[in-house]
Amino acid sequence: MKINAARLQDHFEAMSLIGKIGETGTCRPAHSQEEKKAFELAASWMKEAGMSTKIDNFGNLIGRLEGVDNQLPVLMMGSHLDSQPYGGRFDGVSGVLCAIEVLMTMKENGIVPKRAIEIISFADEEGWRFNKGLFGSRGILGKLEEGDLKRTDKDGITRGQALKEFGCDITKFKESEYAKDSIYCFLELHIEQGPVLDIAKKPIGIVSGISGPLWLTVKLKGQAGHTGSVPMPLRKDALLGAAEIIVALNQIATQVKGNPTVGTVATINVFPASRNIIAEEAEFTVDLRDIDLDRRHEYERQLMDKIEEISKKNGLTYSIKEDTNSEPRYCADWIKSIIKNNCEKLKLDAPELMSGPFHDALALSYACDYGMIFVRCKDGISHNPLEYSSYEDLALGTLVLLGTVMDILDR
Ligand SMILES: [Zn+2]
Repeated sequence: MKINAARLQDHFEAMSLIGKIGETGTCRPAHSQEEKKAFELAASWMKEAGMSTKIDNFGNLIGRLEGVDNQLPVLMMGSHLDSQPYGGRFDGVSGVLCAIEVLMTMKENGIVPKRAIEIISFADEEGWRFNKGLFGSRGILGKLEEGDLKRTDKDGITRGQALKEFGCDITKFKESEYAKDSIYCFLELHIEQGPVLDIAKKPIGIVSGISGPLWLTVKLKGQAGHTGSVPMPLRKDALLGAAEIIVALNQIATQVKGNPTVGTVATINVFPASRNIIAEEAEFTVDLRDIDLDRRHEYERQLMDKIEEISKKNGLTYSIKEDTNSEPRYCADWIKSIIKNNCEKLKLDAPELMSGPFHDALALSYACDYGMIFVRCKDGISHNPLEYSSYEDLALGTLVLLGTVMDILDR
């Protein structure tokens, strides 16, 4: 079977006009009129592919193709059409449009699947508008959290209000939830959003799992003093301690060359932040991720030892708050091997790699087996109007997805 690469490109180009900013950027906030327009356009293509469409009470766009036996658990694909405020044309969009191309191709070849297939554009994957993401994918699994609807955006609009304006009935969430075991498996094609495939010059990657982040806030306390008079050996400089810990985290995360571990300190607050007062307090965030949970635990222990040692050396006290502690979620081996077979059929040498960022598949991983296909993106740039994946690579990814769907239907 051949996909229609020209049509796929047309779809990307048409979608990129909705919420377009600058030459190549996109701004399609969750539950917004721009997202609604994107849904209408995607729904028109879903209908062409023989699907029925609806927007559920979480603000998800759902396309459904009936199968031979609709009592069987559904094969689900998808991603998201909302974007970052200063985002690109491919993040999320790829997973929806490539899946639609798969179904259009199947229809043209007269294939009726044995089980129903659904494509979902999940609401608010990105999470910036209300400071919490994966809304639609958590929603359908009954995993919303207390206060999810009361979260406000920068204009003071609550998620509940935004959903109502979008046309959702927030009193009827239950009707939009999926029953246990009603999803057979979930497939998500996504741009890599990192540089691994680009550097390796490989168009397609097979995702091994989504790594779990450990998020900490570390607060160091020393003693303020005049920077001109306190002799160096007598100082209790909290910022110096923080600097040493930041370097130590970097060394911990890079101790084995080639490992996928990543450790980052990206924010720091200093008190009192005066150029001639030795820092009394330094507070910074730690983001540590790994696909191997045992290794992450080990590195966390090493970091704790370093924090203890460096604090002692600098005469500091410290406190550590744990903000998030998620476990890695692994892709199903059987789906990975189907994806791999399909890559081989296309003579693609597709490396396995983990995903540092979250995706809707993370939420779905708690309900069913899942697999992900990564498509190379130029220089690893994402969440940026410069984000770019070539239409050739996206067409290859779509072919891999098509073969994967066909093999899963054969099981
Ligand atoms: Zn995404």
